[in-house]
Amino acid sequence: MQQDIQVTIVGSSNVDITALMRRLPGPGETVLADSYQLSPGGKGANQALAAQLAGAATEFIGAVGNDSHADIALGQLKDAQVVLDRVARSAKPTGVAIIQVDSAAENSIAVVSGANATVDSDAVAEAGQLHGIVVLQGEIPASGITAAMDAATGRVVLNLAPVIELDRAHLLAANPLVVNEHEAALILQQLDASDAPTNDAEPVIAQRLLEHGLASVVITLGANGCLVAERGAPIQQLPAIKVKAVDTTGAGDAFTGALAARLAHGDSLAQAAGFAGRFAALTVQGHGAQSSYPRHLADI
Ligand code: ATP
Repeated sequence: MQQDIQVTIVGSSNVDITALMRRLPGPGETVLADSYQLSPGGKGANQALAAQLAGAATEFIGAVGNDSHADIALGQLKDAQVVLDRVARSAKPTGVAIIQVDSAAENSIAVVSGANATVDSDAVAEAGQLHGIVVLQGEIPASGITAAMDAATGRVVLNLAPVIELDRAHLLAANPLVVNEHEAALILQQLDASDAPTNDAEPVIAQRLLEHGLASVVITLGANGCLVAERGAPIQQLPAIKVKAVDTTGAGDAFTGALAARLAHGDSLAQAAGFAGRFAALTVQGHGAQSSYPRHLADI
């Protein structure tokens, strides 16, 4: 079964604990919240669901705790038949994101990595061979990311969000690096070994990332779509689909998962990014992350 896997995602899975309140508490203050909900999240899990729903046979490799949150974290992946055989059970708790949202949709978020912090080089070595396109994010230890890149037999899609320190050789092995405009600027700063962030426009940042040695880069730009940059080809700007956005949570993850699924089907990077943009545009029209992902490919 694992040999038929087209996309393998090594990454984080969380439970998002979201409390809705009129205003956010200040330091030392208690406010009464109106309601709360528990929902599955984590960049790795979100991207795995997106890749599977976008039509690729997908495996998710990560770690959850021996607690009741584990079933919530993995529930939608299980329902969508993402392969979960190599998700480890850790002595640490399932990761949680504690999210406070006020009536103006402003939020504050604290993430407890928990079991996600155990997805390191040892855990990846124990998992064994990684099949198909391998997708990684910045919510597991850097040693887990680099070990997964070394174990990958296929192309590696690296969504370095959040931006964490990776050695230069691994960072430059991403193909593509998929990041938003803020992350792209931070990564360029890392590669330039510069003290100050760049003020360059996104196409210039993309070009400079290629000059450092990356084979391809996709910079997502929210409602402005994305840039696709490949070595030896002109940079393409793909506009977003015009939609009424109600909640963009998890849009970037939907984009990355869908992009990987289409690359696995043999699309060019620009074709895959076009599809990923259409897929992500559907998700911003619904609330939540995983719950907003389209269940029917015919919608896209
Ligand atoms: P997040 O952290 O909220 O998941 P991100 O910053 O990683 O997001 P974005 O650049 O905001 O990622 O969005 C990813 C992609 O989703 C965009 O490139 C675009 O294709 C699509 N998208 C996001 N917001 C909108 C929108 N308002 N309308 C249409 N498409 C959108």
